[in-house]
Formats: sequence, C-alpha cells, structure tokens
Amino acid sequence: MNYVSTRGAGAGEHHSFSDILLGGLARDGGLYLPAEYPRISQQELARWRGLSYADLAFEILSKFSDDIPAEDLRDLTRRTYTAATYCNVRHGEDASKITPLTTLGEENGAQLSLLELSNGPTLAFKDMAMQLLGNLFEYALAKAGQQLNILGATSGDTGSAAEYAMRGKKGVRVFMLSPHKKMSAFQTAQMFSLQDPNIFNLAVEGVFDDCQDIVKAVSNDHAYKAQQKIGTVNSINWARVVAQVVYYFAGYFAATKSNDERVSFTVPSGNFGNVCAGHIARMMGLPIEKLVVATNENDVLDEFFRTGIYRVRGSAETYHTTSPSMDISKASNFERFVYDLLGRDPSRVTQLFRDVEEKGGFDLAASGDFVRVQQFGFVSGRSSHDDRIATIRDVYARYQTMIDTHTADGVKVAREHLQPGVPMIVLETAQPVKFGETIREALDREAERPAAFEGLEALPQRFEVMPADAQRVKDFIAAHTGL
Ligand SMILES: *Cc1c(COP(=O)(O)O)cnc(C)c1O
Repeated sequence: MNYVSTRGAGAGEHHSFSDILLGGLARDGGLYLPAEYPRISQQELARWRGLSYADLAFEILSKFSDDIPAEDLRDLTRRTYTAATYCNVRHGEDASKITPLTTLGEENGAQLSLLELSNGPTLAFKDMAMQLLGNLFEYALAKAGQQLNILGATSGDTGSAAEYAMRGKKGVRVFMLSPHKKMSAFQTAQMFSLQDPNIFNLAVEGVFDDCQDIVKAVSNDHAYKAQQKIGTVNSINWARVVAQVVYYFAGYFAATKSNDERVSFTVPSGNFGNVCAGHIARMMGLPIEKLVVATNENDVLDEFFRTGIYRVRGSAETYHTTSPSMDISKASNFERFVYDLLGRDPSRVTQLFRDVEEKGGFDLAASGDFVRVQQFGFVSGRSSHDDRIATIRDVYARYQTMIDTHTADGVKVAREHLQPGVPMIVLETAQPVKFGETIREALDREAERPAAFEGLEALPQRFEVMPADAQRVKDFIAAHTGL
C-alpha cells in the first residue's frame, strides 16, 4: 500500500503506512490517502460478518498497512479492542461487542438505531481510534528505537482521549495544555486524575486559543521541535481515520441480516474525520446508501453539502454551543473527500485550498463538480440548541434512552433523511454524563454515569498551572524529557 498527498508532492516516492504514522501533514501541506482504496469482495464481506470486533479491525487495517507483519497487527488489534477497555456500556449491553447497536424503533418505515462508540475510557468516540494509536505508536517507536513527545491543546474530548491512549506507553510522553478552570468539573477530573508519570497536564492561565497559540509557537520553532522530538495526535492522522472505518462495517453487520441489504449512517460532524471514515468504507464497497453529515450551528459542512460552497469561518463566527466538540470553523479532514470528489486531481485540490487560505473558501457549484456529491452518497443537515433539547426529550420519552447533545444533533438530522426499508444508524459519539448540564436542562434529571466514574471528581489531581507563555512551556517540556 502506497500513500499519496492530496496536493501531489513526492508523487514518485513510496510512503508506507509506518512512514506516515507518526507524521502529520504531507510536506506540501496536503493530507495522506492511499494511492487507491482496497475493494472488498463478496466472499470477504461474507466471512467478515462473523468476526469479533478485534479480528474485523485486523482484516480492515491489514488492507492499509501491509508493511506491519500480520502477527504483530493481530496482536495490536486484540490488545486494543477488549471488553475491559470498552466496558462503559449503559443499556445492559454486551461489552464484548465493543460497539453495540441499540435499536430505538421504526420511524417512517426505517429502523432507527444508535451505534454506541462511546463506551471507552473517556466516554467519547475518539477512544475508538486513539486507543489503537497508543498501541501503534508504542510498537512503531520501539521498532525504530525512538521516542515521541506529544504536545497538544484541548478544551475537552481530544486531550483526554489522547492521554488515556498514551498513559503508560513506552517511548511516549504527553504534554497537554488546557485553559485553567475553563473545562467542566467532569472533564477536568477525567484528565487531571491521571497519575501516570508520562502524562503532563499543563493548565494555562488563559483561554483555549492561548493554548493553541502556544502549540503553534512551539511547533514553529523547528530546531526545538526536532531536538525535543515533538509530535501531535490531531484528527488528520491517517491511522485515526482508518481505525474508524472498522465500526462502519461492524454497524452494517449488526443492522442487517445479509450482505444484499443497504444501510445509511448519520454522523455528528466537526472536523470531518468520523464521516471521512464512512466515505472510505463506502469506497471499499460496503453497501452504504447515504452518509448524512449532521452539524450544529457551526454549519460549514452543511452549507457545503447543500450548496457546493465551502466557506470557512472566523473566530467571531464560530459559536460556542452545547455540542462543543463540533464547534469548528473549518473541517481539517475535508480535503480528503474533495480530492476524491475531483477525481483525485492534486493540482485542483492545491488551487482550491489555496483559495481557502487567500479568499476564505471556494465554490464547486459554479464549476459543475458539485453534482457528483450525490454519487458519493452525501447529504446533510444542521441542528440548533433548541433542536438538541427537543430531541433529547423526545428520545428519552419515546424510547427511554438518554442521548448526549452531539448524538442528539445526529438523531435530529437523521430523521430528515429516513427512507422506508433502509436502516438508519446514528453514530453515538459521546455519553450524556459528559454534558450533564444540558441533560439537566432537557430532562430535569442527572445524566446516567457509568459505575467506574462514581466519585471521579473527588480523586486527587495532578497538574501544573502555567502562564500563557510559550517559553515557559518549552522550558517545562525540556526539563521533563531530559533531551
Ligand atoms: C470529535 C467529536 C465529534 C466530531 O467528530 P469529527 O471527526 O471531528 O467530525 C462529534 N462528537 C463528539 C462527541 C466528538 O468528540
């Protein structure tokens, strides 16, 4: 398997899965994608239906990472996808399924269900890929005799998923910046209660943007970055995307009886990483009817899929909503889809994303390319705070099922795209307890909390308060890496 950049640099070179695993963007600023998608045969699809989640993950990942020996990869997937790690099931489900499917009921002739992706250690879907990444990083670093110091900024979900994935991993340290006293008590406790010596929580006296600016400043100091072996785990990481392909297959098998059937997925979306994995599953031949992109008030993606106009937003136009993990102003994985949409033409992709930098966006309706969006199965919708509240109430009243705010955005939009006879699977991206305040507003009761999280806020916390000063952060890192 060879990987190419969406902007075409290094076209004659070979990039393996391991080559791109620890890196971020390609050197031309593009994103990596396989030179071609592996197609799944009917025989393979039939055989995969009976597999455990870990073995399904092995089959799918091995199509994309032929440079990792099969026995090593099987060991990695079996150690990652265990009932012990994905144990936070809520509805009396079977944790050994890893991503259980809960059917809500039939609406407009379509079976509506939730694919539970939030039973991992941080109760959000990012654990699905991040846990694998932790094991892959440890494996790759040991092989290369290297170490990696991950620097990130978080306002919640990504940072905690990264810390829980990397805790105790050999060769890896995590330095995670978060705005001091600005996260919820639950999120703060989740991150700061980690006592692992390779995890460092830096509480920055400022807001999230200050944290991000520090990460940028450190990353732009190339000499420091090289010397301190600084890396990231952001959502453009290819291994994260490909790990997410697995649950589209698992969801399909759970919702159907035979491989002749088609299903649709609705995906609460922000950076387009999750639904990009659905696109790849469909390109591999999984019988997906529609991929429904659900956004909140930050509707960059909904606007594109309705009109063909991609218009990124400034910070004044990026709203803080009650589904905060979807509050984005531009979708960092979107370029991967645009590359496929344009028939894999790197020069046009380069031009379009130059327009994003220079003019704030592009318009594919005018160029006639937009009509092809339908062939890729994409449709979209958006949701507001009032929609979330109404949907959380309705799903609780009708199906006795408590859903979180992001999943509520998904259910709201899914209902606008139901087709009789086509099962609709909404990806459940987080558990309600992470957004307890909005659950109280909607239901006037406390969010359900998995047993392992009782008393979380009372655990001892380990963190370092820092001024919003890049030099102080650099000094702290250097003092703790000894490099
Ligand atoms: C990250 C996140 C999303 C958005 O996923 P993308 O891959 O960025 O589109 C949705 N819901 C929750 C709970 C998340 O943490």
